[in-house]
Amino acid sequence: MKDAECVFCKIVAGEIPSPKVWQDDACIAIRDIAPQARVHFLVIPRDHYESIAHLPQGSPLFGRLLEAAVGVARQEGLVPGGFRTQINTGRDGGQTVFHTHLHVLKD
Ligand code: 5GP
Ligand code: ZN
Repeated sequence: MKDAECVFCKIVAGEIPSPKVWQDDACIAIRDIAPQARVHFLVIPRDHYESIAHLPQGSPLFGRLLEAAVGVARQEGLVPGGFRTQINTGRDGGQTVFHTHLHVLKD
């Protein structure tokens, strides 16, 4: 699933260059272009779903997003110290890029 106009689909496909700090078969992670903390990664599923509210019921991506978040956090030295996660969902939830993603942050 892919949306031709979607910036995160283009990053996943490599059409917009963005170093991938994490890659697995379901998700990638990149550094946020406008970090809101000293450490700020975005975990992005390879498949295009507008938001987590658009994931099919029971989708493995609910779990895979969190697994990738912990994976990238551990790889980047944020475990065991800790980190924050955030998922903005929909216009009223502050979402600005309408391809599901999870923020990993540490001040
Ligand atoms: P949202 O507000 O939708 O939860 O988060 C979207 C995030 O994507 C923002 O923090 C924004 O800085 C980031 N972002 C938007 N476009 C790009 C891009 O082209 N590259 C990267 N690395 N981050 C982006
Ligand atoms: Zn997309």
